[in-house]
Amino acid sequence: MDKSIEPLFNDEYTGEPPTKRLLAFIQGEREKGKNVVGMYCSYAPSEIIHAFGMVPAVLCAFSNGTIKIAEETLPANLCPLIKSSYGFIVSDTCPFFSLSDIIIGETTCDGKKKMFELISEKKPLHVMDLPQLPDEKEAVLNWALMIRKMKNYFQDMLKKEISDEEIEKAIKDTNRKNTLMGKIFDYAAMSPPVISWAEQYDIIALAQSAAGEDIYPKLEDIIAKLENRVESGYCYGREGAPRVLVTGCPIGGDAAKIYKIIEDAGGVVVALDSCMGMKMFRNNAEEESDDPIVSISKKYLKIPCSCMTPNKRRIEELDNFIEKFKPDMIVDFVLQACHSYNIESHKIGRHVRDKYDIQFLKIVSDYSESDIEQIRTRVEATMEKINA
Ligand code: SF4
Ligand code: SF4
Repeated sequence: MDKSIEPLFNDEYTGEPPTKRLLAFIQGEREKGKNVVGMYCSYAPSEIIHAFGMVPAVLCAFSNGTIKIAEETLPANLCPLIKSSYGFIVSDTCPFFSLSDIIIGETTCDGKKKMFELISEKKPLHVMDLPQLPDEKEAVLNWALMIRKMKNYFQDMLKKEISDEEIEKAIKDTNRKNTLMGKIFDYAAMSPPVISWAEQYDIIALAQSAAGEDIYPKLEDIIAKLENRVESGYCYGREGAPRVLVTGCPIGGDAAKIYKIIEDAGGVVVALDSCMGMKMFRNNAEEESDDPIVSISKKYLKIPCSCMTPNKRRIEELDNFIEKFKPDMIVDFVLQACHSYNIESHKIGRHVRDKYDIQFLKIVSDYSESDIEQIRTRVEATMEKINA
């Protein structure tokens, strides 16, 4: 980044991996007496966690370093996200897991479900039965029932009840945060963008845990700084650089190699369409509804994860993103052994090729460095077609 450009965070963690700032935040909340809820998925209803005065902490891991120890128990041909997360737990090196008082899981993919069984011996764990046919009419009520069961589980654990008014407040707080996050993503949609993927990722990491007054002033400050960048004529990336939307499996840590390769090849990553990207901030629960839990249920069933069938909303969301971010290239990033995203990639690629004049590239990878040069060659070759 241009040294004269003010960083979006002015704190001691600027330039550090986003996990450092997040860890400091969660430790601070813990010291204030708040309980921490570890979670593995965007389907975990954070409004209920916040309504109880607890702090959500995302436990999905993206380090190649913990895969080896995980493979002593788990099969090698399993998604690296699951292996890395489990490896941190068995090696007792995940500070977020250590800080968690309760773990929430959901029945998304088989690997995660079976990992939950293994880690249930280490922490109190509650698994929610996620409906996977989101368009069926009973899905909303079934998921609402699971959200109520989770609420009851928290009540029993904490010996504390929460009112509908407290849930309603958490809905409004989350919606306000989503609005602010949406404004920040607008700066990535500009042509040229004024925010980098790494800066977006930094903000997303904190916003997944922080809520209310812990996050609004920071987000408002970031928006003001981005506005200053616009006024000063700053843009991120080379003028005219191919704009890239990255969709698919969650990306962070060692998997962020894909973002770096794209930028090394001369592109600019403008849209992070995954669960470590914009997905968590895209949908709002309806405010002032008759039943706030049903409202939360409807919101979460709109998340377009490949564990759903059919997953029509992923295509709808992709169309919205294409209209907004105007990419020249779409990279569908699939983690090895993630069968649902891998199979769904066929439909995503077909949709993009049929409807748009946009390059589409599917990349299947893990957290290792072994395929970096091979991915680089494919990204560069695709980018040459844009520039041709
Ligand atoms: S990709 Fe699907 S299973 Fe994975 S965190 Fe996102 S919503 Fe959950
Ligand atoms: S990336 Fe795929 S296989 Fe891995 S945890 Fe997420 S849904 Fe499961």
